[in-house]
Amino acid sequence: MNSFAELSPVDGAKLDLVVPTSLQELPAMVERAKQAQRAWAGLAVAERARAFSNVRDHVMDRGEELASLIHREVGKPEAEALLGEVLATGDVLSFWIEHIEEHLEDLELEIDPISYPSKRGRIIREPRGVLGVIMPWNFPLALPFRTLVPALLAGNAVIFKPSEISPRTGALVVELFRGLPEGVLQLLQGGGEHGAALCSSGVDLVVFTGSVATGRKVAHACAERLIPCSLELGGKDAAIVLADANLDRAAHGIVWGALMNAGQNCGAVERVYVERKVADAFTQKVVEIAKELRPGIDVGPLTTKAQCEIVRDHVEDAKAQGAEVLLGGNSAVGGYEYPVTIARVERDDVRLIADETFGPVLPILVVETAEEAVARANASRYGLTASIWTKNYTLAKKLGAQIRAGVVTINNHSFTGALANAPWTGVGESGYGVTNSIHALEAYTRPKLYLEDRNSQKRELWWFPYTPHLKTIALSFLVLRSGTKSVFVKMGAVFRLLGAFLKRWKT
Ligand code: NAD
Repeated sequence: MNSFAELSPVDGAKLDLVVPTSLQELPAMVERAKQAQRAWAGLAVAERARAFSNVRDHVMDRGEELASLIHREVGKPEAEALLGEVLATGDVLSFWIEHIEEHLEDLELEIDPISYPSKRGRIIREPRGVLGVIMPWNFPLALPFRTLVPALLAGNAVIFKPSEISPRTGALVVELFRGLPEGVLQLLQGGGEHGAALCSSGVDLVVFTGSVATGRKVAHACAERLIPCSLELGGKDAAIVLADANLDRAAHGIVWGALMNAGQNCGAVERVYVERKVADAFTQKVVEIAKELRPGIDVGPLTTKAQCEIVRDHVEDAKAQGAEVLLGGNSAVGGYEYPVTIARVERDDVRLIADETFGPVLPILVVETAEEAVARANASRYGLTASIWTKNYTLAKKLGAQIRAGVVTINNHSFTGALANAPWTGVGESGYGVTNSIHALEAYTRPKLYLEDRNSQKRELWWFPYTPHLKTIALSFLVLRSGTKSVFVKMGAVFRLLGAFLKRWKT
C-alpha cells in the first residue's frame, strides 16, 4: 500500500499533502549514500559526534511543534508525545553523543605468545555501510531516532522510510538532522512497495520495526540478497500480579502499561495473569482507574480505522467465547474511536489473548499460582516484554529467569524502551533485533580483525613442510593439554616436545 494517511484521527481534518518518492530515484539515492558514507566513515568518531551537536537543540527547540504534529498525525495525546517522544529523543541523543566513542573503541586481541609469537591484533568496529531503516507509525519520532542516532554516529549512511501513516513526522525527523553531510541521511516517502524496494536496493543492512507479517517479508527479501536484517516486531506482553503485590501500584501501572498510546505499543500489557486471592480486588481497582480516563486527553483515538476494526474483532470474538466485559467494549462506536475496555477472560486460545490487539483493551485472567502464570505467559508466540508485580524480589528473580521475553520488569512495565543504555529486544515472533544500548551496535557495525605480525623467523611452526618432528610436537601438546594424563607422562611429553622443537628449527 502506497497511499498516505490523509486525515487526522483526532478530528478528521485534512493533513498536509505528502508526495511519494519516485522509485526510479532509489538507485541514485543508494549510490549517493554509498559515496557519502565513505567520507562520513572516514571522519573520526568525535568529529561525527560534533556534527550531531545541533540535532539535540533542534529537537528541544521544536519540541512543542513536534508533539503537536504527532498528535494530529497519529492521535497521541500531546503530553504523551512530549514525554515519550520528544524528551526521550533528547535523552537518546545525549547518551549516544557522550558514549559513542568509548562504545566503538578497538579491542585488543589476546594472543598466546608461545603458540603465536610476536603478533598483535585489534578488533575494530566498522560501519556496515548503507542502511535501509523502515519504521512503523506508533512512535513516529522516538523509534526512528533510537536507530538513526547510533547507526549514523557509527559511520553508516541511512535511507529512512517512515510509515505511510506518519510521513509528515518522518519528514521532520530528517529535517532535524540538517547539518549532516549531503547524502548521509535520505528520506524515502512511500508505503509497502517502497519498503520492499528498499530491501532489494543494494543496501548493506535493513533495520526494520513493524508487524510480524511484514517482518517475515523483509527477512525473506534480505535472505535473497544475503544481507543481514534487524527485526523488532509485535508483542503480546503479559503482566503477572502476585497475591502479595502492592495492588494500588499494580493497578495504576498496568492500566498505564496497557492504555498508553491507546494500547498501540509493541510493549503494551495485553494480558494480565492475577492470582485468585487478589483477583477481585485488583480488577475492581483497574476498572475504577480506567473509568476515570478522559478520551482524547489521557487516551487518544486509534491511529487508523483498520486498527479499530482489529480491536473490535478481538473483543467481539472474546465476548462470543465467554469473556465478561467490565468496562467499555461497545461495538457500536465507529471511526477511529474505541472505548477503554476491561474484560475478564478465561481462555488463552481466544484472539484477544493469542494475537496482538494493539488497542485500548485490558484482558484479565485468573490463575491459581505464580508458576501457572509464568507458564501461560510463556505460551505465546511473542516474547517482547513482561512484568511481575510483587514485593517478593527473591521470587521475582526466580520467575523472571523463567520468563520467555527480551525485557522483564518488576513492579513496572515497558518504560525501559526510553532508556538509551538498556537493550530493547524480544524472542520468538517479537523478532531478534536489539535496539538501544551498546548491544545495538553489534547490528549497525561489523567486527574487523587487524593483525600485525612482527615475527622475523623465516617460517611459522605450522607452515610447510609437515615433518615427523612437527607431528611429535602436535602429539606432545595433546598430552600436555589432557586433563587425564599423569605428571610423569606429561614430563615425558615435555622432553619429546623440546627435542622435536630443536630438530624442527634446524630443518
Ligand atoms: P507494518 O508492518 O504494517 O509496517 C511497518 C513498516 O513496514 C511501514 O513503514 C511499512 O510501509 C513498511 N512495509 C510494508 N510492507 C513492506 C514490505 N513488503 N517490505 C518492507 N517494508 C514494508 O507495521 P505498522 O502497522 O506500521 O506497525 C505496528 C507494528 O509494529 C505492531 O505489530 C507493533 O507491535 C510493531 N512494533 C514493534 C516495535 C518493537 O520495538 N518491537 C516497536 C514499535 C512497533
